[in-house]
Amino acid sequence: MNKLDSSLVVAALKDIGFQITDKPTLADVVLINTCSVRGHAENRVMSNLGHLKHLKQSKPNLIVAVMGCMAQRLGSELLEHPAVDIVAGPAQIPQIPEMINDALNCRINSIAITEKIRARHAPAENKTLDDFELAYDTDENHISSQAFVRAMRGCNNFCTYCIVPYVRGPEISRPPHAIIEQIKKLTDQGVKQITLLGQTIDAYCYDGDERQYRLADLLEMVHDIDAVKWVRFITSHPGKFDPAILNAMANLPKVCPYLHIPAQSGSDRILKAMNRKYTSAQYLDLIAQAKETVPGIAIASDFIVGFPGETDDDFAATVDLVQKARFKNSFVFKYSPRPGTHATKEMEDNVPDEVKKQRNIDLLDVQNQIAEVDNQHFLGKTMEVLVEGLSKKPHLNKAENDNNPQLIGRTATDYIAVFNGPEELAGGFAKVRITRTSPLTLFAKLI
Ligand code: SF4
Repeated sequence: MNKLDSSLVVAALKDIGFQITDKPTLADVVLINTCSVRGHAENRVMSNLGHLKHLKQSKPNLIVAVMGCMAQRLGSELLEHPAVDIVAGPAQIPQIPEMINDALNCRINSIAITEKIRARHAPAENKTLDDFELAYDTDENHISSQAFVRAMRGCNNFCTYCIVPYVRGPEISRPPHAIIEQIKKLTDQGVKQITLLGQTIDAYCYDGDERQYRLADLLEMVHDIDAVKWVRFITSHPGKFDPAILNAMANLPKVCPYLHIPAQSGSDRILKAMNRKYTSAQYLDLIAQAKETVPGIAIASDFIVGFPGETDDDFAATVDLVQKARFKNSFVFKYSPRPGTHATKEMEDNVPDEVKKQRNIDLLDVQNQIAEVDNQHFLGKTMEVLVEGLSKKPHLNKAENDNNPQLIGRTATDYIAVFNGPEELAGGFAKVRITRTSPLTLFAKLI
């Protein structure tokens, strides 16, 4: 979501004549997009603002704008920071170019956030956001021939640890025709893979034209666009997952057989305290149903370790769930209290940091052992990848002894494959044969 928002604002600024630099010392304007999901991300923003405060002493005309969830969360408090000139929440990104011009021309500090974040946005505000996305989502913003397209905004789930409902507002599904129009524009520019975005994408629901559109319907509509070769969607919530989505994945060949569906914990007691609205048994049933309906599906999950009150037994239940589900990969985070959430207000952050750290390491170890074994099944297999470009870690595959540079590609099931090949392949599909595996990467030879 944040990557998409950043790219939209960058495109809008380029459109009115700005050039982009990643060196703050060369910039007239520094724009920071922020995430509030973990304390660590917010601390990094504050540390960057500290550096910019010093830079402003030698560049007094420098304009600093803070956008995104932290801007929405802290509002005027952030505007009081000596480095900050502009504060804009996630729903106000279309206003940023004008706010920057005002700050440059008239030295006016400004703030634009949503006052009543849980009130439904006015239709005009949604339209402005939709128009902004349609105008500025271009293929230039994305890695070779792939694009993110927002299907919905906000979240209604109120997991007790999570700040998203308080900074991104209620769930709002975009009209399917606006999504399709945007995708057609992107495919006209050469985009081949679409990733539909939503905090709870499986809850996509739009009432219009005397019928209701759910995610399975939207996937079918995207699938029908000839120029779309692959379509993905992230992220799903296991609580109300619609089985029609699995049928769409099984029956529509361009829908990638990849599901990111965070479990967060394997302990029913902790899941209840997190307000996740499912049990570990229900979660595992859903995973079994997904594997049965969509052969070869790859499933990834997220976990929070050290949630308030998490005992050794609760953590053992999480390890047990990971061992049973056999995920492709898991993202593991240490619990971090977020101001204003139910967990922060009502629960004591009582798992010591060293225990959180150890559980984080232990759970990743379990996950890595699973992936190490399961990935060996790919040895010798031919897989199709969408080539993203040059590999950032060229040492990884140096045994290949090939004069071509090392490229990185992604399978439909979201595995990363590294192989040697001509750089011109970037943005296209290629077939590779897997020669070596590790828990997170497949090493391959171009066919
Ligand atoms: S589903 Fe839960 S974790 Fe995900 S964004 Fe909504 S409140 Fe946050």
